[in-house]
Amino acid sequence: MDELLLIPGPTQVPPEVREAVSRQMINHRGPAFTVLYQEIQQELRPVFGSEEDILIFPASGTGVMESAVVNLFSPGDRVLSVVMGEFGERFAVIAQAFGVQVDRLTVPSGTAATAEAVARHLDAAGPERYRAVIVTHNETSTGVLLDLPAVAAAVKARGPLLVVDAVSALGGVETRCAEWGVDVLVTGSQKALMTPPGLGLVYVSPAAWEAVEQAKLPRYYWDYRRARKSAAKGQTPYTPAVGLLFGLREALKLIHAEGLDNVYARHRRMARAFRAGARALGLELLAEDDVASPVVTAVKVPEGIESSQIIKGLREKHRVIVAGGQGELSGRIFRVAHMGAARPEQMVQVLEATGRILFDLGLAAAPDAGAEAARRVYEEAAVVNG
Ligand code: PMP
Repeated sequence: MDELLLIPGPTQVPPEVREAVSRQMINHRGPAFTVLYQEIQQELRPVFGSEEDILIFPASGTGVMESAVVNLFSPGDRVLSVVMGEFGERFAVIAQAFGVQVDRLTVPSGTAATAEAVARHLDAAGPERYRAVIVTHNETSTGVLLDLPAVAAAVKARGPLLVVDAVSALGGVETRCAEWGVDVLVTGSQKALMTPPGLGLVYVSPAAWEAVEQAKLPRYYWDYRRARKSAAKGQTPYTPAVGLLFGLREALKLIHAEGLDNVYARHRRMARAFRAGARALGLELLAEDDVASPVVTAVKVPEGIESSQIIKGLREKHRVIVAGGQGELSGRIFRVAHMGAARPEQMVQVLEATGRILFDLGLAAAPDAGAEAARRVYEEAAVVNG
């Protein structure tokens, strides 16, 4: 039996995508590459909710987070970082590393920052204080989804640029960059986009392009202006990750064949089913339902056992791979992703395995209660949709 990979990235890569990434290389300055590049642009538009060319770098998500900082800011600029967990904190630290002044709006682990809280902070700070507000659409370390349209509206009404880390959201959560007023949104290939790690993708709004022209921080590899010039010719300024782009094109075809709305609904349904199943096993969840992520769920480790008993047990006895906690949540939670190519029946599988482990530890009354609860969610969804 293959391992069942349910970590929040890299995620399972579908066979069509795996085959595509192993194809023979092509000339990245020739016409076949331009066709590949333009097809990808076409298929990315509805996923980003924008008609702009998306800039694509060979990079991990952190790389394109850094790209946003060096392209938008000048030394001494001040930004507000909304921190809901490890990745919000990472963006703040990257900005600080480049001499940007960072104020933090930090919320407790497992909760979401609200649009009201952001608005209040901005109003108290005064209109000219911040060049930008930086947020995380889906905080992977806690399994919390930000209400991005509401936060975007609050930020836009007050003037600063809005920079979004959508590394674990884009492709699994509806995103409308243009309509919502996002200025820069960065993501990676290895999560809901079902492609191996190594591509960083960036949306830049017209207002952000003006900021890019004015920004004084040094940049070369990440310079959005160079990337845009090449994009207009269907190319990238430096050697692109051709194999990964072959893969991304296939992944996008799969997403559109399923239908974007169906993809988002599948993610929400998997989250609901997994959450119901975990609760049926007596487990507590880190995030409340109203802010729960559709792509990853953080589960509290029950009192009296170590997180490794679950994580290692799942791996060694059931070949199911889940993630632990990060930072202050290390040892206190485990995280199960339902992201990208993950299927509803895989939630049943991980709940069966978890139920077995908890039952053997004397912590669950019925090992199958979780899987049954998840199946019930799917049955109810089928009735509603039918
Ligand atoms: N932001 C978020 C929300 C993430 O989930 C991740 C990856 N887990 C990153 C940033 C960093 O991406 P990478 O590991 O590709 O640098």
